[in-house]
This record gives sequence, C-alpha cells and structure tokens, in this order.
Amino acid sequence: MKPLQELVRPNIWRLKPYSSARDEYSGVDASVFLDANENPYNHPNNRYPDPLQRDLKGHLSRIKKVPAENIFLGNGSDEAIDLVFRAFCEPRIDNVVAIDPTYGMYQVCADVNDVEYRKVLLDENFQFTADRMLAAADEHTKLMFLCSPNNPSGNNLCRDEMVRLLERFSGIVVVDEAYIDFSDARSFLPDLADYPNIVVLQTFSKAWGCAAIRLGMAFASEEIIAIFNKIKYPYNVNLLTQKQALEMVLRHYEVERWVKILKEERVWLEEAVKELPCTVQVFPSDANFFLVRVTDAVAIYRYLVEQGIIVRNRHTVARCGNCLRITVGTRLENEQLLKALRNYQA
Ligand SMILES: *Cc1c(COP(=O)(O)O)cnc(C)c1O
Repeated sequence: MKPLQELVRPNIWRLKPYSSARDEYSGVDASVFLDANENPYNHPNNRYPDPLQRDLKGHLSRIKKVPAENIFLGNGSDEAIDLVFRAFCEPRIDNVVAIDPTYGMYQVCADVNDVEYRKVLLDENFQFTADRMLAAADEHTKLMFLCSPNNPSGNNLCRDEMVRLLERFSGIVVVDEAYIDFSDARSFLPDLADYPNIVVLQTFSKAWGCAAIRLGMAFASEEIIAIFNKIKYPYNVNLLTQKQALEMVLRHYEVERWVKILKEERVWLEEAVKELPCTVQVFPSDANFFLVRVTDAVAIYRYLVEQGIIVRNRHTVARCGNCLRITVGTRLENEQLLKALRNYQA
C-alpha cells in the first residue's frame, strides 16, 4: 500500500474539519448546556446527537470484535461509499476499478463525483481474479470495489483472490459485506489489522432488519476512519437512528434467529424454484436472495407485477440476461410467489 498521504486527496489531507459544539465539549458531568443554540424544551429531541455515536460504537465494538476507533457509522452504507470517493478520488483525474456486475451505487457515486469507473467482467460463475483487476488499473487508480456475497449474483467471491488483491494493490480495496451475516464465508473483520488498505462495509439494512433507519458501518484502520470522520456531516447519524440501533443491539438474538430462518428458507425456495417449468438455472447464493435465469425475464417480471408480486428484473445487467433476482421473504410470501410462477403460461 502507498502511504495514506499519497492516496488521500490533498485538499482532504489538509482539511480542518468543522468543529461542532458537541466536539468541543463532550463530557458527561456538565448539566447546563448553553453552547449549541439548542431549544431547552422538548427533551430529548432538542439536543444534537453524539457526532461520533460513542455509545452505539461501544456495543458494536463488542459484537463485531473490532475496536471502536476502527468503526465509522453513516447514513446507510451508501454514505460510506460516497465518502471513499470524496476522500480518495480527484475528480476527472483518478479512477476506480470494480467487478461487474455488482451493486449499482458504486457507479452512481463515481458518476456524481466525476470519477472514471472501470468495470472488470466477472466470469460465467460470477468469479473474479486479482490479475484482471490489476490489469485494469493504472497509476491513477485509487479504489477497487469487491462485494461478497455479491449483489445481484449472490455468491461469495474467491477469498484467495481477494487476499491476493489486498496484498498487491497499492490503493484502497473496498470489501462490501452487506450480506455477510447470511454467508458461510468468513468476514474480513478479524483480519482488519493485516490489511491497512481495506475498507469493509456492513449495514443494518439486511440481516439486522433495519433498512428504514439508514445505518451503515465501515471498518478500516484508525487513520482511514479518522479521515471519514473529518469529512462527514457533523451529525450524520440522527438520534432516533442511534436509539433504534441500540435497541436492536439488545435484541441481537432476534437478528441471529432471522438469519437462521432466512438461510433455511432460501434453500427451500431455491429447490422449489428449480422445479418450475419457467426456470432455466438457479445460481448458487450465500445471501438472503438468489438469481434465477428464466425463459423470459421481462415477460415473467410483468406477469408477477400483475399478481402484485415484485421481484428485481436484472435482464439488462452484465452476465444476467433473462435473470430475476428474488429476495427471500416469509414462508407465506414465498408460497405466493411459487403459486404464481406455477400458474405462469408462456
Ligand atoms: C443493500 C446493500 C447495501 C446497503 O446499503 P444501505 O445504504 O446500508 O442500505 C450495501 N451494499 C450492497 C451490495 C447492498 O446490496
């Protein structure tokens, strides 16, 4: 890895961050707060929330076995994705390399930030090699994006190739683990200290069942996390989100129960979908969704919409011709989907 100072944009490296009232005084022993122009009424929503979410990070540190200094929390993982571009990529000069197909937000953030987005096509089993990623890079490549389990394909990327890329690429490797809780593959979190150039993304939106509260996690070296904290909005995670996340932390056993049910349900649904006349191929998944190649994705998607059932049509995505992405629901929802598909007439 290059020294961090060579990777971070010069203006960001030099940046003196906004210092909020809550940054300048964050002790707990004071009782009269007349420093932030808050309204003294309407407790507790009158007060600005903790800009660094210390309480929540303390609990997450215990659950994830990662020191709090290595955790960034944002308004969805989408905030962290945008921040890596803003921290590392000089618009119109730097570029990034990503596997293709994958999660669409990497390209959207690249486009918003006017950063060239280079795609490396996965093979027909949705696998990549470090060599092909490195071959797409040049001296202006700051970031590489991997997603494992990958969206929309559902499979884990090959860990040996991921490690090879982490060891050989001189820039930052973002490893999106949005679906890692559903996967039998090992997270990169226990290996954070071995890879100073990794940024691991996780989210409250999937296994945690909290897409509505918008809470994403990024795990990286203390130095990288400090840069994210420097450029984020001062109060990027609101109080209601922090409270709800703390409540979910206390009910973490629920998350574990949901994950167990959804993994079993995915296997059951995959087996049933394999037997349908309209199914061509079910791709192996380690997530809470799977990709299925059907006889006519556009027609079947439209037919399901008429029945009030919405799946994701991925027909126009690389390597996903005639593919639908199906999220695993409750047994009742999954049965409704199967019933509709069994009644489908081409
Ligand atoms: C769903 C998803 C996310 C979650 O994004 P949030 O902004 O945290 O809701 C991140 N990455 C991938 C690959 C996803 O599929």
